[in-house]
Amino acid sequence: FFISFEGIDGAGKSTHIESFSKLIKSRYPQYEVVLTREPGGTVLGEQLRSLLLDAPMHLETEALLMFAARREHIAQVIEPALLAGKIVISDRFTDASFAYQGGGRGLSIDKLNALEQWVQTRADGGLLQPNLTFLFDLPGSIAQARRSKVRLPDKFEKMDLVFFEKVRQEYLRRAKADPLRFHLIDATQTPEVIWSGLQQLEIAL
Ligand code: C5P
Repeated sequence: FFISFEGIDGAGKSTHIESFSKLIKSRYPQYEVVLTREPGGTVLGEQLRSLLLDAPMHLETEALLMFAARREHIAQVIEPALLAGKIVISDRFTDASFAYQGGGRGLSIDKLNALEQWVQTRADGGLLQPNLTFLFDLPGSIAQARRSKVRLPDKFEKMDLVFFEKVRQEYLRRAKADPLRFHLIDATQTPEVIWSGLQQLEIAL
């Protein structure tokens, strides 16, 4: 079973992902849980992450490196874990590429679809996708105010409000198009309220 956490920077997903993974471990002790992240999750992926977060680069280079990191992540971490019956929880997956490189920076959805097909087609011909995606949604302005309180910005976090609104709208568009996979979380709520909502969820593995 594959779960991803998504949302614009400052939405609070990383605050919740660790406690959520502990909750799943205690609720389903028969399954091993693998907590991972993108870009990253492997040695090469973490190296690519540092490049991606610091170095300015052509938009298509950025998308290709994101998907290169993802290819490695799938081959080394996600697929072996899923095949072994483990639960994989990832801080971001391909929806982030559609939202950031597509919605935010304007790369064509056709190119992103092609990369997705290339990188995520499984041996049986199907497309590897999360079974469940939590989307932490909130207006860009609130996210920006939160981010400036907690950390120094990386390359993406220095982008302006218009960029984050475009990222948000693409996330929302994808959530609307696939309501069975997406679970929308109103991230303007307090962490306590969000957490109690997550605890009350029934997840059918
Ligand atoms: O989730 P996290 O904050 O660790 O992501 C690192 C950075 O990479 C974020 O600023 C995020 O906006 C950016 N990112 C991106 N495109 C992706 C995945 C992440 O621009 N496909």
